[in-house]
Amino acid sequence: MNKISFYTLGCRLNQSETAVLTRSFEVDGYKIVDFDEPADIVVINTCTVTANGDADTHRLVNKVTRVNPNARIALIGCQAQIQKEKLAELPNVRWVVGNAKKMDLKTIIQELNNDPMPQVITPTISRESFTMSPAGFDRKHIRANIKIQDGCDFFCSFCEIPYARGRARSRIFADILLEVKALVAAGHKEIVITGINVGTYHQEDYSFLDVINALEQIDGLERIRISSIEPTTIPIEIIQKISQKTKLCRYLHVPLQSGHDEILSAMKRKYSRKEFDDFIRQAYKVIPQICIGTDVIVGFPGETEEQFQETVEYLKEAPIHYFHVFSYSNRHLAKSRNLGQMIAPNIIAKRSEILRTLSQRKRALYYQSLLGTTQKVLFEEKKGSSWIGLTDNYVRVSVKAQDSVSLLNQLRDVRLNEISGPLVVGELT
Ligand code: SF4
Repeated sequence: MNKISFYTLGCRLNQSETAVLTRSFEVDGYKIVDFDEPADIVVINTCTVTANGDADTHRLVNKVTRVNPNARIALIGCQAQIQKEKLAELPNVRWVVGNAKKMDLKTIIQELNNDPMPQVITPTISRESFTMSPAGFDRKHIRANIKIQDGCDFFCSFCEIPYARGRARSRIFADILLEVKALVAAGHKEIVITGINVGTYHQEDYSFLDVINALEQIDGLERIRISSIEPTTIPIEIIQKISQKTKLCRYLHVPLQSGHDEILSAMKRKYSRKEFDDFIRQAYKVIPQICIGTDVIVGFPGETEEQFQETVEYLKEAPIHYFHVFSYSNRHLAKSRNLGQMIAPNIIAKRSEILRTLSQRKRALYYQSLLGTTQKVLFEEKKGSSWIGLTDNYVRVSVKAQDSVSLLNQLRDVRLNEISGPLVVGELT
């Protein structure tokens, strides 16, 4: 029996695709092993959103060739799509498969198994709606990712994704429902809606809101979480829906990228800071205890100290509870590489640190505001003698339980008692 292992770099979308791929090999009799174990084939689902993502692929290939020298390596996904020549030169790499064909990896491996030369398969990505086979139980995640959309037409100036993932296209509506029903039947209670630009979902006459409404009707599904959604694409009805205590989590992750309008404009984002702010304040006003998160890029070309400070001041007072901070990374195909002056790495590092510290403080303040309340927690793993899980409003909670008690994949009421680093310690009620 062929042994195969998988490693996923990058975003939730990659994770959901790896889960589907893993299942397709499993049903065909391959033995799935952990990444650290010896395998005949190692698949790395790559990411190219930053230079770090690129470097991670090289680091992982080196590791595989060192500890698992007989394994044949398949590099698939975003970096494979746009840096195929470079990746094909890496040791032990036998397949380089871009996004258009990566879900056909099993067939490719079976048909092109004996050729000692690396096979590079990166055709142009189609704009058609797509289907995917259901993943079944996602072994790596209690909260299952469901891919509903791929690609993007926005062409933000810092981003290579429209090249790596192609133009926007949506999964066939009925296919989404089929997969979610299969995930629920396999035991998942929460699904996370993923895509590159999910708010632009459009398939025949179905919109993003139609997807949410249809998922709400699925018996046994308890929670629906939207992973990340572009500011200008969120239907306003979503705010009302979340406030009505439907299955939608009280959680919105809406990428801001910069708190300064000139930088937003240079980034080719489609909103001003005020428009972003009006939207999140509306959500904050209407949905009690909502958690709002965002992404921020520091060190965009030409970003002055004053512009950065304005971003800091805005993030300090806005109802945003945490932010993912990204250091600007010059991507080969992105237009921003020809804009303003590059910011020195030490300044980028300093600005990142300021925002990361602020994010930690804001998250702690948010946690503080929830102490004494009771929240439903979906438990995902056991660490030492504690079970760790997540509330719908994105609080990571730790609860002590007797050894004989398993809380895995259970939704339980927990009273939140105290903050302990990145967690809130609570007790079952
Ligand atoms: S919205 Fe902008 S940042 Fe997001 S994937 Fe599209 S081009 Fe990239």
